[in-house]
Amino acid sequence: MSEIRYNALQELSKGSIAEHKNGSPKKRISEIFGQNVFSLMVMKEYLTEGTYLRIVAAIKNNSKIDFSTAENVAKGMKKWATDNGVTHYTHWFQPLTGSTAEKHDAFYKPSLDFTVQGMENLTAAELVQREPDASSFPSGGLRNTAQARGYSVWDPTSPAFILETENGKTLYVPSIFISYTGESLDYKTPLLKSAELLNQSATRVCRYFDENVNNVIATLGWEQEYFLVDEALFHARPDLMLTGRTLFGAASPKGQQLEDHYFATIPERVQKYMQDFEHECLKLGIPILTRHNEVAPGQYECAPMFEDLNVAIDHNLLLMDVMQRIAKKHGLRALFHEKPFAGVNGSGKHNNWSMATDRGKNLLSPGSQPSQNLSFLTFFINVVKAIDTHADLLRASIATAGNDHRLGANEAPPAIISVFTGSLIEQILDRFRTDGPHALEDHKEIIDLQIPKIPEITIDNTDRNRTSPFPFTGNKFEFRAVGSSANCSAAMTVLNSIVASQLQQFGVDVDKLIAKGQVKEEAIIQVLKDYLKSSYHRIFNGNGYSEAWEKEAAKRGLSNRKTTPEALSAFVSESSIDMFTKLGIFNEHEVHARYEVMLEQYIKQVEIESMVTFELAQTYIIPGARKYLGEQINILKGLKEIGLDKAADNSKGEVEELCTTIEDILHLSKALKNATESAHHGKTANEIASGFATKVLPLMAKLRIAADELELKVDDAAWKLPKYRELFFLR
Ligand code: ADP
Ligand code: MG
Repeated sequence: MSEIRYNALQELSKGSIAEHKNGSPKKRISEIFGQNVFSLMVMKEYLTEGTYLRIVAAIKNNSKIDFSTAENVAKGMKKWATDNGVTHYTHWFQPLTGSTAEKHDAFYKPSLDFTVQGMENLTAAELVQREPDASSFPSGGLRNTAQARGYSVWDPTSPAFILETENGKTLYVPSIFISYTGESLDYKTPLLKSAELLNQSATRVCRYFDENVNNVIATLGWEQEYFLVDEALFHARPDLMLTGRTLFGAASPKGQQLEDHYFATIPERVQKYMQDFEHECLKLGIPILTRHNEVAPGQYECAPMFEDLNVAIDHNLLLMDVMQRIAKKHGLRALFHEKPFAGVNGSGKHNNWSMATDRGKNLLSPGSQPSQNLSFLTFFINVVKAIDTHADLLRASIATAGNDHRLGANEAPPAIISVFTGSLIEQILDRFRTDGPHALEDHKEIIDLQIPKIPEITIDNTDRNRTSPFPFTGNKFEFRAVGSSANCSAAMTVLNSIVASQLQQFGVDVDKLIAKGQVKEEAIIQVLKDYLKSSYHRIFNGNGYSEAWEKEAAKRGLSNRKTTPEALSAFVSESSIDMFTKLGIFNEHEVHARYEVMLEQYIKQVEIESMVTFELAQTYIIPGARKYLGEQINILKGLKEIGLDKAADNSKGEVEELCTTIEDILHLSKALKNATESAHHGKTANEIASGFATKVLPLMAKLRIAADELELKVDDAAWKLPKYRELFFLR
């Protein structure tokens, strides 16, 4: 067998993967939860009462923290960290690369006077603001290297935490990242702005119904899908290592067709891994609660309880980091790519999103009588209207090279943005359109199972729909089209912004009618009816995977942008720029810069994939196949020599076929190289990206088909890349 693959499989079967010691935490979750977090509880202990109260007030009212308060927080934070054995601290921020960034500094400051011992310290200035040399982060032209200053600034609304690794303990301070001129260079800054705008506009609308609402927060509960592969096999697949997905690989005879993996018993090795990373996450205050097997072999999911949106996103990024780190300890690799394997399901990150008031009310909770709940209908219909108005922008917010393989592949929602309401809500909306709120019998139905001893159950107001990108799931919307590797901020910033903008408009529209003398409630109903009329075509409760829906959606005038370059252009459309700049989320400069960064990322990613495809074809696939071809030719000659002409003739056919496929691959890899080079001749970044989407990717797909055919013809021993069945099923 090919040495590379053989060694990887040996490594695996030797069980070289050390049994991991602290696999299963013996303590109760309540004993460890949040132990590494500078939480309000810890602050109470480490801060003076005055400082503590000022911090609580600042977090609650989104007010600024003054310098002397920051000075006291820095003191307390340093004391807590050093009490816990921490030596270094870092601002932790989210540049547009998609991963998080950090730069560690020691607390210890040596003394210049050598007769005096230096000491550990953290000043307010250090806590609040750092200046990493940030010239290598993508900025989309907002900065050139000569003006490389970028500042990271403390975000007190997301708690600082201690990260423990084999190499010691570090204090992490969640931060935003901005340029010298104050423009955002990260995901967090616009997210925080959008959350604040949503707060203002939703609070204003809440007051039509409840004068006492002071604050509205967006809530997010993500569900993270991922694959696990053995580390030895991962290292034997340069495509997985360099691009996160397999660029070759014939389907395994057994894939997901039996659906026997979904919710099945979790393999022991995997469960040990899960317990281990969950343990770390729980210490970091990530409320991770759910784990299960997903549909594809080797695919899993985990989910926490929902939290304030900003904190939830930090927790998701931290989780992905912890998962990758702990996986290595278990001889595993966690894959977050949206489509690591062809022919089986890809991975998403469902974003469950809602809004909650400071009075503890979920604004998307329909209550027992949704048709009578005007506040619920107001927020629900405004969300639908926002999605309808800015559907293309929402699609753009999830556009990446990886996600393109997943959306519309009959395993994930299509690239068409629609809203699933469930039949009960649809009935209510349908009547509402014409009659206004109506007494429907919307009590929960009770299902009598007719099995003694099994309690009766109620069915939810909505069924589930896996085929919709944006289903309503009872008391929240679930944006299912987000990619598994994504920083949720991109999608959530857009969602918050479009809903905030819509709610502002709603306030204006209602007040206009009130000013004309209409009663408040009637005004609200009339505006909602108008909204529903114009956005009803966005509601779809059928099968989003079907071809019929594609046709129907086209008839309804809903766009279906299948590739990232097509989708991204909505980011810089007139209406998007208008909305972003009016709200103050981005200035025009920033919108264009972000657009450039996203295109650049797409181009780079597809280009790397294309080069790896070329290299593997040339150096793995063709040499392996030729070796086998050589053997076949010798056999053929031998058969002829001993006069077995008929058998020789048959073999000749096979050899010819093999030759043709090898020739095809050679030809296609040359064409791929040329296409990659000529894609760069495009005049704008979008033209270049489109070249990659329409010329390069199709050639890669063609080449892959030929190589995958070859995989099934060539002697197993001559094949160098670990096969799908090995990646999926070896434990
Ligand atoms: P599913 O039926 O999809 O498994 P769950 O009710 O278990 O849904 O919730 C899935 C995710 O949605 C969890 O992370 C959960 O915390 C989150 N979630 C539940 N309620 C809300 C809410 N009001 N806002 C945001 N996320 C929520
Ligand atoms: Mg769900």
